[in-house]
Amino acid sequence: MFKKPEGITPEKLAAALTSQKKTEPEPAPKVQGPNLINAAVWAYGQWSSYQKQLDEQERRLLDLAYQNKGWFTQTEAVRLLGRSAPSIVDRLKEAGILEEMQGKHGQPVYVVPQFLPPSLTCQYCQAVYDLGEVQTCRQCGAVLNS
Ligand SMILES: [Zn+2]
Repeated sequence: MFKKPEGITPEKLAAALTSQKKTEPEPAPKVQGPNLINAAVWAYGQWSSYQKQLDEQERRLLDLAYQNKGWFTQTEAVRLLGRSAPSIVDRLKEAGILEEMQGKHGQPVYVVPQFLPPSLTCQYCQAVYDLGEVQTCRQCGAVLNS
């Protein structure tokens, strides 16, 4: 059996409903006359909090890239940022921070060239090694020159 909630009377309920009505949000400011400034302040507040959020997400994505020596996959981005991942990726791409490449299986992978460790590419077979990792190419045996 449900226990009857204590302390709720029709009078109290009516009072609660009335006070709730009072705290309803005020209508959005009209972009006219003296309210123009208020509207502008409101819009700026919305925008700056939006931008703060984006910056935070951009930073998280770049942290991820940094930890992965410059690389991350689309899956990793979505795991980190959820639905907003594609728009953050696009923003960083437009800013020239991020480059989109195609992974082995055709899936998009992203690279932040700034975060890539210095590397050496074999002139003969294009194998890529970290600087100082090997002296001769493991694939074709060519001597690697820095
Ligand atoms: Zn080679």
